[in-house]
Amino acid sequence: MVTPVERGELDGGRHFATWEDPHPKPSYLFALVAGNLHSVEDHFTTMSGRNITLQIWVEKDNLDKTEHAMASLKRAMVWDEQAYGREYDLDLFMIVAVNDFNMGAMENKGLNIFNSAAVLTHPQTATDAAFQNVEGIVAHEYFHNWSGNRVTCRDWFQLSLKEGFTVFRDQCFSADTNSAPVKRIQDVSFSVRHSLLRMLAPRRTLFALTTLLKLPTSTP
Ligand SMILES: [Zn+2]
Repeated sequence: MVTPVERGELDGGRHFATWEDPHPKPSYLFALVAGNLHSVEDHFTTMSGRNITLQIWVEKDNLDKTEHAMASLKRAMVWDEQAYGREYDLDLFMIVAVNDFNMGAMENKGLNIFNSAAVLTHPQTATDAAFQNVEGIVAHEYFHNWSGNRVTCRDWFQLSLKEGFTVFRDQCFSADTNSAPVKRIQDVSFSVRHSLLRMLAPRRTLFALTTLLKLPTSTP
């Protein structure tokens, strides 16, 4: 179980917490977050009847934007049990979302770290697409608990294995949860768009240079 086994107050207004982590893991999955954060809490009962505490930690102004992420997390936990037989392996699962995280999200064991933009939604300010995007990212990072964290990379040359498989798992989850044909079209469209952009990149660069230098060129 990953919960503080001991906590208390120290001199000078400081405090401490001691954690126990039963699962070996590579160092890139270790995370420590400190800040003036507030949490919302919920619970999930696993397929074997274990009670898991779920917490989402955010800056105070964002507390009213966590409901969809929490619901998405619970849907992802059910889906991983039903589709892959994977039950969450700790007693506590935390998400922390801060406004100045330098990536989208990261699957640190038991403590997923998110940029606020990838986890916060409010019906008055977020689109349907934003809601689906948050659901997909929350699920993706949760699914890494097995594909990436418990079954991890031997080295960085295997990065695409854990990412590819986990992307496949989150795409299947979103297809099952929403519309499978629409999800497939979105995923293929994304792949084609980005593959084409990569292929066209040298020509775009060439076009930009020739335009800048006012040289004759063919169409980009
Ligand atoms: Zn990933």
